[in-house]
Amino acid sequence: MKLKREQLPQGDALAQVRERYAVSVTEEVMETIDPADPADPIARQYLPSVEELQTTPGELADPIGDDAHSPVKGIVHRYPDRVLLKPVHVCAVYCRFCFRREKVGPGSETLSKEELQKALAYIRNTQQIWEVIITGGDPLVLSPRRLAEIMAALNEIPHVQVIRFHTRVPVADPSRVTDEMIDALQSAKAVYVVLHANHARELTDKVRAATLKFIRAGIPLLSQSTLLKGVNDDASVLEELFRALTAMKVKPYYLHHPDMAPGTSHFRLPISRGRELIKKIWGRMSGVAQPSYVLDIPGGFGKVPAGSAWIEEREGDCLVTDYQGGQHVYKGED
Ligand SMILES: *Cc1c(COP(=O)(O)O)cnc(C)c1O
Ligand code: SF4
Repeated sequence: MKLKREQLPQGDALAQVRERYAVSVTEEVMETIDPADPADPIARQYLPSVEELQTTPGELADPIGDDAHSPVKGIVHRYPDRVLLKPVHVCAVYCRFCFRREKVGPGSETLSKEELQKALAYIRNTQQIWEVIITGGDPLVLSPRRLAEIMAALNEIPHVQVIRFHTRVPVADPSRVTDEMIDALQSAKAVYVVLHANHARELTDKVRAATLKFIRAGIPLLSQSTLLKGVNDDASVLEELFRALTAMKVKPYYLHHPDMAPGTSHFRLPISRGRELIKKIWGRMSGVAQPSYVLDIPGGFGKVPAGSAWIEEREGDCLVTDYQGGQHVYKGED
């Protein structure tokens, strides 16, 4: 049984959710939802819920402080060697836990031609920018022609050596990944695509075929996942996700602790729980399949590893916990 668009949750409270936050689900995603399962981990990521009307005191419209680091429209420059370039604020789907949920949506703007030129000029004029991370919204909703224009401009800038795309398109709308898109992303520079996936069930045959197109074209794939209550807050679920990604040639890169985005408290869990989970999967799963568990510090202070719970300093020595919970004292230099 497949879920149809008309079966999206309805009602007055849900109408309020839809007014406040963008809602969109693709047919591909609908097909992976099991309508018989009230706790379906795919449905929970995409279908609006009345819980979103509840905002808690620590939640922020701009949870990771991007606005404070934006020298020109469409650019976020927080770290010295890399910038975010956000040409578009729409996505193929709208994730209920999105940290940019106040900014993304069908009514949101795409950079005008002139604004994009200004953003590219900032990159051209800032020598220390080694990597450009193209994100949004979802940059892979852009047409191959627009993507090729951005790539051509970046290819001309000698100090930019790495171009990275962050996207959910291959997972949420795999048919958008066409040969024309892949051609548009080809470059003599290193190009990486970071795929957003949170559950192994998202990785259908169509999704696998779409991701293989990048890999065959010499574009390595990494993944980012968000740790979400009710979706993947379980060691076996995480293990299955990271093993599936690795086996399909996608290297798990980051596991994000959920951000303080408004109306997302039903997805959040304490860092202690995240640490417990990554400790569980650490020893039993190949190192190649391990992502870094990271926290984006609210307010724009950047990301930090959140999972370094194994080594604690104790009066000059280190107390080291192994993956089975055993504790060992590690003495310093002498
Ligand atoms: C996450 C992020 C990056 C990329 O960080 P990496 O650790 O290199 O993946 C760059 N700039 C901003 C503003 C970010 O939020
Ligand atoms: S695809 Fe990314 S930017 Fe778009 S709603 Fe989902 S998490 Fe947010």
